[in-house]
Amino acid sequence: MSASGDPVRVVVVGADAAGMSAAHQLLRTARAREVAVEIVALESTRHTSYSACGLPYWVAGDVESGDDLVARDPEAHRAAGIDLRTGVTGVGVDLLRRVVRARDAAGVESELPYDELVLATGAEPRVPDWARAADGTLVPGVLPLKTLDDGARWRHLLDAALADGRPPRAAVVGAGYIGVEMAEALLRRGCHVALHAADRLLPGFEEPVRERMRATLEAAGVEVVEGSRVEGLEVDGTGAVRAISSGRARTEVDLVVLATGVVPRTDLEVVGGTLPRGASDAWEPDDTGRLAPHVWTAGDCSTVAHRLLGRRVFLPLGTHANKQGRVVGTNVVPAADGGTARFGGALGTAITRFSVGEHHLEVSRTGLGEDEARDAGFTPVSLLTEGTTISGYLPAARPAAIWVVADAVTRRLLGVQIAGGEGAAKRIDTAAATLWLGASVDDVAGMDLSYAPPFATTWDVLQIAVRRLADRL
Ligand code: NAD
Repeated sequence: MSASGDPVRVVVVGADAAGMSAAHQLLRTARAREVAVEIVALESTRHTSYSACGLPYWVAGDVESGDDLVARDPEAHRAAGIDLRTGVTGVGVDLLRRVVRARDAAGVESELPYDELVLATGAEPRVPDWARAADGTLVPGVLPLKTLDDGARWRHLLDAALADGRPPRAAVVGAGYIGVEMAEALLRRGCHVALHAADRLLPGFEEPVRERMRATLEAAGVEVVEGSRVEGLEVDGTGAVRAISSGRARTEVDLVVLATGVVPRTDLEVVGGTLPRGASDAWEPDDTGRLAPHVWTAGDCSTVAHRLLGRRVFLPLGTHANKQGRVVGTNVVPAADGGTARFGGALGTAITRFSVGEHHLEVSRTGLGEDEARDAGFTPVSLLTEGTTISGYLPAARPAAIWVVADAVTRRLLGVQIAGGEGAAKRIDTAAATLWLGASVDDVAGMDLSYAPPFATTWDVLQIAVRRLADRL
């Protein structure tokens, strides 16, 4: 209970991964600490707690229905005791009066008082100006893939385009994670796919990984166009997209995927104080999730501490959102002993794949790239090692290329990147665990890892890579 004896009133703005992790953890913590809480959660859309990362696999047809991506629907949250209000957007906050200004779907505004506020508004796709018609709406045929509604629109768009009998021509603009995953989905659905990267594909990966991804995409039939910043489009008589342009090149298209990154959604009007901002203008909380007195934040709208860089960065990934939400949910109601939960930070660990027919490449990364390591003051030395996922004499053995970087001064392992066939990329978790604990190359080279021919080589390929690098330092 609050000082007044009333339940602690918590308003959560945003009811997806971070917001609902915070809300449910708060219910558990409050119960354990015998504190009465009242949680009101605002959500602009009709959907809650779904796997945005699963959307490309819905578009590809691996997932039957958008409902399959929903972990907990609004009713499930309400049944747990959360006053969830869908179709309601938090548009402002008065930090002095401790009220949130909310707007419903009909445009009616109301004020919601809070004792504690959790901001979990997420991120939204970066939409270039050229993608919009004069009235500000997206040009028909041009769409990002961020929400369940986007997924449904892609399914409809594709069904309509495929009904024509001619393979639709799709341009994927941006060759990061969504770009590669949508290239797979659209190719598998029968489109002709061109993947446009403003610079090079897979930002954040080293060239040996990129090289392998480029070769796999091209072998599967994707046209990879690097150094192609898409800057404009043409529409047909109906207003739908007809062509895109980048530099002097013009390409006729039927569909355009906007996969040009995301920006934190932090446009709430703030009065009565300020909320600190950090990298990419995201909200900058401390490791406990506290942003300002009585204000907390978690998820893609906020920064996370990078364990190797020693500073906070914008790294919008669902895996962090869930963990940050849990930390906030633990801290909103203080423990009697004053103990607090802390988010341990991030290493930039990520994984994806491109898989069409026999063309299957998995890529993953953790820690720093070589330039990033140098910029951070390390003395990086890197090495590429090629091996196999399991004993080479078994038919299921697949190639695995492992790039590793370490600091020549301290011998600390700084980063690992993997590209390979089935079973290769998930090895990144071993690497991430060692980086998390600050291991040296010598620690990793001598570690007791599992071996039997169907699972690994006698020296696991990751360990071979690190051992070879250790020998060179
Ligand atoms: P991203 O930041 O990974 O990649 C966007 C790319 O688009 C960049 O390389 C950028 O240079 C390029 N670009 C920007 N404008 C362009 C233009 N006009 N023409 C051509 N290229 C242009 O972003 P994303 O792929 O849109 O993904 C969104 C977010 O979701 C990211 O934060 C990503 O980490 C996350 N995500 C992660 C995974 C995963 O980890 N498997 C999967 C999906 C999404």
